[in-house]
Amino acid sequence: MAYQLTPKLRNLTPYQPITGEFKIRLDANESYMNLPDYLKEKVSQAVSQLEFNRYPDPYCTRLCKIYAEYYKINSELVTAGNGSDELIALLMNSFFEKGDKILTLAPDFSMYGFYISLAELEQMVFDKGSDLHPKIDEVIYYINTNNIAGIIFSNPCNPTSMGVTTEDIIKLIKNVNCLVILDEAYMDFWDSSILGRVSEFDNLIILRTCSKAFGLAAIRLGFAVANKTLTNAIRAAKSPYNVNSMTQTVAEVVLSDQSYLQECIKQLKQARESLYESFVKLQSRKSAITKVYKPQTNFVFIKTTDNKAVFDGLSQRGIAIRFMGEFLRITAGSQDENNAVLQALEEIL
Ligand SMILES: *Cc1c(COP(=O)(O)O)cnc(C)c1O
Repeated sequence: MAYQLTPKLRNLTPYQPITGEFKIRLDANESYMNLPDYLKEKVSQAVSQLEFNRYPDPYCTRLCKIYAEYYKINSELVTAGNGSDELIALLMNSFFEKGDKILTLAPDFSMYGFYISLAELEQMVFDKGSDLHPKIDEVIYYINTNNIAGIIFSNPCNPTSMGVTTEDIIKLIKNVNCLVILDEAYMDFWDSSILGRVSEFDNLIILRTCSKAFGLAAIRLGFAVANKTLTNAIRAAKSPYNVNSMTQTVAEVVLSDQSYLQECIKQLKQARESLYESFVKLQSRKSAITKVYKPQTNFVFIKTTDNKAVFDGLSQRGIAIRFMGEFLRITAGSQDENNAVLQALEEIL
């Protein structure tokens, strides 16, 4: 007799981030800014005061308050997670029944499909079409005629870098009965958040992360924001001590510094604008670049006549970006990093 993995595990391959030596990492949409020394100092101070023998606060009470203050929302509608990844997994595992149909849009964040299948749900896919903008009326019709239990999508979208208007988002939420999981991972770089309106809807959960705009990918911290009933359900379904005390402590320090957060966003938006404008200029001289999408995120999404050659050429020069078949995704880095990419492209193209 031999132990057999279940079918859903048999076909899984572990997530493989790019390995190898890269001097410039523009493949994972992280912030290029590490914490400044004065914040590192405060963080070390705070961590040294921790009671390491005690379990963390299961509800991250102080942290959720600080987070809610920054966005001017009610902290009772906020749940912290071990990265928004944990929250996606938790929602898929607890808000649906085995076999339920979950709608995703394509292209969108690839991890949705991973958590949907692990939760033994059925992933349905709605194609955004050639302009990469989902037609909201068609999405609503699809949901209401295909017995869809939930929809999850990112706004603005990773990887397309483009957003759906608030008007369309509200229209979608109001015109379906299913659960709408709205992933606002990149919303700090745009201006169309509906965080403040979350209590108007009984079928909306918004996900946010500290991994992108706030440069805290290392500590794994995300948030779910929803009305009271949904929040109670999320809190009931989560594992009790999901966010560790170090993460809570570090985040309490950093997220209390509102001017630092605003500075992060300002600089990352500038980096994004400058990278985008450089690509538009480059496109006017290099016909191999066939499309540069106008981004609302901290990365640029492009098409070239030979993505593989561009990706390999950059890799050989120690620059990691994300290869996505028909497209390439390049995170906005520091001025020097962005210049290095552009310089390399001058050579490659
Ligand atoms: C990066 C990313 C996340 C994951 O965030 P974590 O909080 O680091 O788990 C979620 N959604 C989208 C669309 C992302 O790009």
